[in-house]
Amino acid sequence: MDDLKKPNSLKNFPDEHGNFGHYGGRFVAETLMPLLIDVNKSWINAQKSKKFNHELNYFLDHFVGRPSPLYFAERMTEHFNGAKIYFKRDELNHTGAHKINNCIGQILLAKEMGKTRIIAETGAGQHGVATATVAARFGMNCIIYMGHTDIERQKSNVFRMELLGAKIIPVYSGTGTLKDAMNEALRDWVSNVDDTFYIIGTAAGPHPYPEMVREFQSIIGKETKEQILKMENKLPDTLIACVGGGSNAIGLFHPFLDDESVSLIGVEAGGKGLNTKFHASSLNGGRPGILHGNRTYLIQDDDGQISDAHSISAGLDYPGIGPEHSWLHDIGRVKYVSINDNEALKAFQMCSRIEGIIPALEPSHALAYLSKLAPTLNKEHIIIMNMCGRGDKDIFTVAEKIKEKI
Ligand SMILES: *Cc1c(COP(=O)(O)O)cnc(C)c1O
Repeated sequence: MDDLKKPNSLKNFPDEHGNFGHYGGRFVAETLMPLLIDVNKSWINAQKSKKFNHELNYFLDHFVGRPSPLYFAERMTEHFNGAKIYFKRDELNHTGAHKINNCIGQILLAKEMGKTRIIAETGAGQHGVATATVAARFGMNCIIYMGHTDIERQKSNVFRMELLGAKIIPVYSGTGTLKDAMNEALRDWVSNVDDTFYIIGTAAGPHPYPEMVREFQSIIGKETKEQILKMENKLPDTLIACVGGGSNAIGLFHPFLDDESVSLIGVEAGGKGLNTKFHASSLNGGRPGILHGNRTYLIQDDDGQISDAHSISAGLDYPGIGPEHSWLHDIGRVKYVSINDNEALKAFQMCSRIEGIIPALEPSHALAYLSKLAPTLNKEHIIIMNMCGRGDKDIFTVAEKIKEKI
């Protein structure tokens, strides 16, 4: 968190109001403003605090299991007979994905602020599980807002959260999914200002959350840079990551934003296809609007109502995207592509067989794009893909889909 800031650096964003160009900001009720200002103050102090950084590093090393390896995917490289492929192995983290990097950071901040009650929203339950995990570790009360439809669909994660001591509050408004849960969590926060901290699970929400989550996830890109320089003695040519709200992607990309030779590719979930209503591609299939306290690209209907997102992977099933990605898309620094359910499903099976790694369905989208790209490149070209989660949670979904096809 101590990168020297150069003038003209793409890393200098957001500005002090939380703006990334036209995106980001703080679109919240008046009653929420003082809370966000308070979080921002503590966040600014925490970044400068030796004690905070020491604790953060301690828990990342010993609780999460960092650094995660950078792994040469030798068999997949041979299979595609093109670019040299590496995986950043964030699926090896405690709880099986990158989300815990951010949850550890935010709960330490909550502790600094003297908060004792943690709230979070969750869709598929993965952020809920990561939040419940850190709340248990730090002995804090934990309330998870979850749409009733999602509770029905994600029973095993609900049970996991309960085992970890969290209380799940079902949300019945709207369609009973992620965006409704986010609204409820914000409402709770306003009425429980004194003791409560809201842990947001992706690089979205009102300022300073997009910046804060990015900084906590940037450990992924910082380690990657060090590791690849050691292994290959040069920077990679291409980085690929899947994009839901965008936290694992921005975490990998951010330390490379000023390295012009490195191309950056974010992979959105195309669901059943961009020409249907069933996708989660905010950039390729949406337009700017306001959700969850920030301005960003959203999937919405003709009247500007936010649509429910669809993807085979629950973690990409978010109707928006972090504001920094909207900006990076507009200025062209990152290229965003879309991969549909079936392509991701194929990549899931391919990676399991070829590399002995069962990937989560989310990074399977990145793998599917990699499968198209790698064969078109030469052997000197280095691609690093963020393996941001493991697939154990997805095996039943995949089993059902494979059966359907037969
Ligand atoms: C939650 C999740 C995602 C999507 O979130 P981002 O903020 O876009 O990273 C992607 N992959 C996995 C494994 C997840 O659990």
